Amino acid sequence: MKDCLFCKIINKEIKSDIIYENENVVVFKDINPQAPVHLLLVPKQHISSIVQIDKLACDQICELVKSISKIAKELGLDSSGFRVVTNTGTSAGQSVDHLHFHIMGKRDFKWPPG
Ligand code: AMP
Ligand code: ZN
Repeated sequence: MKDCLFCKIINKEIKSDIIYENENVVVFKDINPQAPVHLLLVPKQHISSIVQIDKLACDQICELVKSISKIAKELGLDSSGFRVVTNTGTSAGQSVDHLHFHIMGKRDFKWPPG
């Protein structure tokens, strides 16, 4: 989608540190990391948030979820634990309206998250 920051990253119009990519998914480093490992996993198809998940085909959704697990294991996050977050809407502080999952690890996290 025109004027979407993450679409521009997916299309390589804006430079980013992409660590994984397949037919449906791109994973890149967050520019303002909140943990030693802080990645953003996005579907290549633009949807604004998880509220619009019905717009994705089931194989695309499957690819998203499997990619989270694959990346976590490849980076060794699965042994110590990690956090997956998708901020949705104003109250949650979503700042980019293209569905993305934060994958954060290599530190301890608090609960409740604040
Ligand atoms: P959220 O606030 O949950 O919508 O998350 C958006 C995330 O995108 C934030 O953690 C930002 O640090 C990150 N971000 C913004 N611009 C860029 C960029 N150009 N490259 C990588 N991450 C970015
Ligand atoms: Zn987009």
